Amino acid sequence: MKRLVVLGGGESGIGTALLAKAKGFKVFVSDKGKIKETYKNVLIHNEIEWEDQQHTESKILNADVVMKSPGIPDKVALVKQIRELGISIVSEIEFASSFTKATIVGITGSNGKTTTASLTHHILKQELEVGLAGNIGDSFAKQVLENNYPNYVLEISSFQLDDSFHFRPKIAIITNITPDHLDRYDYKFDNYIASKFRIAQRQTKDDFLIYDADDEVITKWLQKHPVQSTLLPFSLTKTIENGAYLDENNIKITIDNNQIIMPTANLALEGNHNIKNAMAASTVAHLLKIRKQTIRESLENFQGVEHRLEHVLKINKVQYINDSKATNVNATYYALESMDAPTIWIVGGQDKGNDYRELFSFVNEKVKAIICLGVDNEKLMDNFAGMVDIIVETQFMSEAVKIAYKIAEAGDNVLLSPACASFDLFENYEDRGRQFKDAVRNL
Ligand code: ADP
Repeated sequence: MKRLVVLGGGESGIGTALLAKAKGFKVFVSDKGKIKETYKNVLIHNEIEWEDQQHTESKILNADVVMKSPGIPDKVALVKQIRELGISIVSEIEFASSFTKATIVGITGSNGKTTTASLTHHILKQELEVGLAGNIGDSFAKQVLENNYPNYVLEISSFQLDDSFHFRPKIAIITNITPDHLDRYDYKFDNYIASKFRIAQRQTKDDFLIYDADDEVITKWLQKHPVQSTLLPFSLTKTIENGAYLDENNIKITIDNNQIIMPTANLALEGNHNIKNAMAASTVAHLLKIRKQTIRESLENFQGVEHRLEHVLKINKVQYINDSKATNVNATYYALESMDAPTIWIVGGQDKGNDYRELFSFVNEKVKAIICLGVDNEKLMDNFAGMVDIIVETQFMSEAVKIAYKIAEAGDNVLLSPACASFDLFENYEDRGRQFKDAVRNL
């Protein structure tokens, strides 16, 4: 019996453990931290051996294969030891995909993964049996075990790709690539780019790679490192013969001379970045032969994803918008770009080496007040003081929202788009977004 050790008892770890057990592996789950009660109960119920708050090396180093959860960095001593012993380390996606013949749409990129994955799933599910997994909801492994849909849309982080070797999505999307998580890539941007492109490493010409042709990081990389995949780019700025582009106010997508045209005015999601997300998602749908009318209607009635430019409430003609998921400068760039009214901007949190210069012109043009919400706001103050009339600091969400309420006038937007991680004041970005929404509802 093959021995599988699962490092990390979170969603992907527990899913992998269940799938592996069902496939006849001897499974051991080990987590350095605490495993959630609900997950512990699942392990106990399924008679899977586990430990938490420790790693018993003798058991771990005896494995035939290790599934490492995406949150565990390579530099951890135990991971190094496992590699030195020649034990193979795989991701959950790699492991689970070996047990399904489903058609897989794999979506990666620095920003827009969840939105594009949710939108793609929303369109496809109108006509196909399709699951949504990866960083969203139930793990892929658990779904392969419990549902095994004929189609899956997967949101895939670079950490999942790092330990993937045979994973071969029929359709891959790279939404965009901007520097992120560089601490996990020896601070080398090239390593991070290479990791994203692993999504296409096993693709052949029968598979498709959809990507942003306006993103020079992607196009330059492709010139130097060609892939086998059939390329289907999308662009806001140039005409694309095979793929998607913006022609005045219409999205046009052509595959094998079959074109679909969709007016952007009808898109449920606002902003240029969402036109790109819509292009990528509709290209998938067009490839999978979803009816044109279905694609159009799905783009119109998509409800959006929580914490991503989510419209919360309108109070006294002021729109409150929750973009808590904007945890880096690039995401906030698109949020500010899409603002169509004077904006009171709530920003701040844990800095990731942010360079705010690319935001300056939008701030000059659209932002009337800045509320810095973080433990350390010095960098924000240094960058933006003088650029707006009002700039204040607080460490409480409720206070931030109250200040915004006092400043706002009819027609304004109040935007939470932090450009930073949330961990200085909140549990995670979801907690931050929920606190924002609660504070708005309490006004
Ligand atoms: P991810 O799953 O990659 O983190 P999300 O879809 O959750 O991406 O969106 C994260 C943030 O990035 C949101 O604040 C959103 O406004 C912004 N965003 C969404 N799509 C794009 C895109 N194509 N390019 C840049 N920013 C985007």
